[in-house]
Formats: sequence, structure tokens, C-alpha cells
Amino acid sequence: MSTRGIQAIRGMNDVLPDQIYLWEFFEQVVRDSMGAYGYRNIRMPIVEQTDLFVRSIGAVTDIVEKEMYSFLDHLNGDSLTLRPEGTASCVRAVLEHNLLYAGPQRLYYSGPMFRHERPQKGRYRQFHQVGVEALGYAGPDIDAELIIMCSELWRRLGISDVRLEIGTLGSTASRAVHRHRLIEYLERHLGKLDDDASRRLHSNPLRILDSKNPEMSEIIDGAPRLLDDLDEDSLAHFEGLQKILRNQGIDFEINPRLVRGLDYYNRTVFEWITGRLGAQGTICAGGRYDGLVEQIGGGKGSAAPACGFAMGIERVLALMAESGINIPGPVPDAYVVHQGEAADGFAWKTVRHLRERGLQAILHCGTGSFKAQMKKADASGARFAVIIGDEEVQAGEISIKPLREAAEQVRVALAEAADLLRGSGVTGS
Ligand code: ATP
Ligand code: MG
Repeated sequence: MSTRGIQAIRGMNDVLPDQIYLWEFFEQVVRDSMGAYGYRNIRMPIVEQTDLFVRSIGAVTDIVEKEMYSFLDHLNGDSLTLRPEGTASCVRAVLEHNLLYAGPQRLYYSGPMFRHERPQKGRYRQFHQVGVEALGYAGPDIDAELIIMCSELWRRLGISDVRLEIGTLGSTASRAVHRHRLIEYLERHLGKLDDDASRRLHSNPLRILDSKNPEMSEIIDGAPRLLDDLDEDSLAHFEGLQKILRNQGIDFEINPRLVRGLDYYNRTVFEWITGRLGAQGTICAGGRYDGLVEQIGGGKGSAAPACGFAMGIERVLALMAESGINIPGPVPDAYVVHQGEAADGFAWKTVRHLRERGLQAILHCGTGSFKAQMKKADASGARFAVIIGDEEVQAGEISIKPLREAAEQVRVALAEAADLLRGSGVTGS
């Protein structure tokens, strides 16, 4: 028999109570920010048909080729996949429920995503994203809105060390032109291509520019730029976006090599990057995907331009921690110690009374002398011990002892307790 118990799956993390306040703070700020911009929450299943992701993300991408948790549902033979990202599911849900008939949709979601990657700092097999999708909007104004919303979110979270890179992938037509030029160029450097790149040379050459292999960086740097093959409309869209960002005081850099790891993007792509998290510095990434809705919907009737982004929650929280942002948990107001049958009943009544008045009250459970219970009270971090013994029960009162300051213990009627506990101290006056 193993002496070690069963452990979590590699790359899949528990979020422990000490970390949860940072998560909850983040989640609250996200809710508030999205709400302020009129985005509504949507929740999709974690498992979808494998085909949904293959068709939307693209068969020749890292995610679909190497990273998906796919399995057969043994009961009916369906191929299912733990979602590696949320956009495809969100678009599927919007189409399935005809949400676009009511007009364009501003939506967001958050939750776990699954990718079979090599676990390392900032890269996990179960990780969490907040995803935002604006569906049914064609103009650069919505691209700008999404970017500005991120920048506002960083401000609300207290994050400053992050920069914005933007780029454009142009239209399908301009990408086709570019593709030819790229293949020509790469064929001239066949000897320098790694295995992935050689394999993708003809199936997905653009993806080669997204390679994380440092030995590929020189050949990537010398490759022709998509910006130079851009069609007029895409150029106008890109300039429109830049104009709004400049007017709104959002700093950015243009990165002509920004490709993104999913096939469905066109025109605008962007990433928010920090230098403080090492190699996993992209905390948020997104772009426009005008063809995806029609593609998933299976016909012209469903077509809708769209733009969205996803941020990696673990990376954002790591950046917050790195920036010294610490969200302490709530401190219990009272720890109630009690002894004797009559006192026990009064203790139950006391904690209920305090909780109904918005205070955090912990009831001592189990046995123990007063002295032992007071130790527990101290260890709980509570600001006050509430003491209930025979004397208190007889008088119909409770004793309140400050645990974090040198002040006198006082005895008061239960009706006065909540106000006293809420105050900064018990003075007995
Ligand atoms: P990377 O280039 O780091 O692999 P990606 O392009 O695959 O990222 P997206 O699919 O754009 O990532 O996902 C959006 C964000 O989700 C990323 O910018 C990152 O913050 C986060 N993310 C992606 N994969 C992981 C992972 N395995 N673990 C933790 N966070 C992740
Ligand atoms: Mg990736």
C-alpha cells in the first residue's frame, strides 16, 4: 500500500482558503468592471463535442494538435473535449439560443480551461480564464472598447506593469497573398526550420511565426510582414483602432509579428504583456474573429462580426502578488466560548443574534475548559472573545473580552453586544 495518498493531477491546482481572498477580490472587480461596460455574464458547459474546437480553433494549431483533453464517451461513442478555451463554446451557445436575433451581444464568462501543456510557472493543465466576447459588432470602436476595458481593469486591480501590443492579420484575402510570400521565404530557409515548422510549412505557415522555439527567432525576424500585404479595409480598420486608443490615452506598440495561437482571428489582434512573470508574460490576449460565428453556425444566415479576449487568471493574480498586492481575509468579530448546558443554549442564541446583525461569529464546537477555549479564540484571530458561563446565563448577559488590545473585559446585555463588537474597542462606558 502506498504511504502517500492520492494527489492532484500534475498541472491542476487547488486554490486554498488563504489564496481565495485574492481570487474573490479579482472576481468582484471583474464583475463590477464588466457591469460598468454593459457586458453580461454567460455560463457554458465545461465539456463540448470535440468537433467544435477542431473546427473553430483550427486543426493545425498547438491546441488541437497537442493540448486537448479529448475522450470517448463510452456510453454513446461521442468524442468529447474538456474546453481548452471559451470563445468557441460561447459562440455555440449564442447561436444555439439565437441570442443575436435580439441584437448584438456583449458577453463575458469565467472558469476553468484545460490544455495538456508542460506544467511550469504560469502554465498549467487546468487554468482559469475570464473571457469577453462582443458579437455582432464590425467596427474598430468595439475593439477599442475591449482594450480600454482591460486597461481600466488593470487600474482597478492595482496592476501597472503591463504593456499593450497590437497587430492586424488583415482579411482572408490579404492573408492568402501573404501566405504565398511567406512560404516562398520559408522555402528559401528550409534547413533552418524545426520539425513543427517543416510540418506546417504548407498547412499553416502563419503559425510558424508564433513558434516559441528560440532557434527559430532569427528566421522569424527576417520573414515578410503581413502589414505590408494588408488590404485597404483592414488597414483603415487598424488605423481606426489606433486613433481611438490614442485619443483615449492608451499606450500601445505595434507588433507586426503578433499572430496568436488560434486560427479564427482576422484583423485586430492584441496582447497585454508583463515583464515581471518571466517567459509566461502574456496575461491577456484577444482579437477579432469575423468569420467564426458563420463557421460554427454553418451558414451565411448566422454570420456576425465579433471581437473578444481572454485573460489568464492565474497569471493576473501572480502579477498582483508580484506587485505586492495583498488582500487579507476577513477577521472574525467574535469567538464564543461557553460551558454548561444552559450556557450552550445561550451561546447558540448569541451567535445567531450576532450573525443576523452582519457580524462574523464563531461558535466554539467540541469540549474544552474555558482556558482551552480561550486559546482557540486567540488562535482564530477574532477581535473579541464572547464568554458565556453560569454567571452570564443567570444575569441574561454576555462577557466580552478584547483579544487584540489591552482593554477591560465588560459584561453587557445581548442587545448591546452587536454595537460594542462593531466598535473599535470595548471601553465599558
Ligand atoms: P501562450 O502563448 O502563453 O501559450 P496562448 O496564446 O496559448 O498563450 P490564449 O489561448 O490566447 O493563450 O489564452 C489567453 C490567455 O490565457 C493567455 O494569454 C494566458 O494568460 C492564459 N493561458 C493560456 N494557456 C495557459 C496555461 N496553460 N496556463 C495558464 N494560463 C494560460
Ligand atoms: Mg498556448
